[in-house]
Amino acid sequence: IRNNFLHQASTLMVKNHDLIVIEDLKIKNMSKSAKGTIENPGKNVKAKAGLNRSVLNEAWRKFFSYLEYKLKLKGGILIKVDPKHTSQTCIQCGHISKDNRKEQEIFKCVKCGYDAHADVNAAQNILKRAGLARMARQANLNRGRQQEPAEAYNNSTIVV
Ligand SMILES: [Zn+2]
Repeated sequence: IRNNFLHQASTLMVKNHDLIVIEDLKIKNMSKSAKGTIENPGKNVKAKAGLNRSVLNEAWRKFFSYLEYKLKLKGGILIKVDPKHTSQTCIQCGHISKDNRKEQEIFKCVKCGYDAHADVNAAQNILKRAGLARMARQANLNRGRQQEPAEAYNNSTIVV
């Protein structure tokens, strides 16, 4: 049932979009033990254990791989961007702070006051990062690959 859902959802996304941008989630890191160590015990162990379970289900990994091969078949583009601070960065002014997101769903920039649904703000950051990664790659190609792209975008992968 889960595979069927993942296929239907990925097929629908690929059918309606030629370009899809995702966070390059480090699944192994996300599934690290929530218990931590004796010196450094984990927080929210119960919640993280639930997250671990779902991550270990590999649903996300499968979903992303389905997106990737279906986009390839269609000739679309998948861009994976570095997920660092995408949910804490203000899309309006660029200020990065944990305090920008005190609640799960609400983003409110402590510097400029911009507010939005937290997922929308994060999605806009992801899209912006993809655009920058693509520009950096293009600049790199123009230079004949003699120089590495800007470090900030090294962690982004463009899968064509
Ligand atoms: Zn701001």
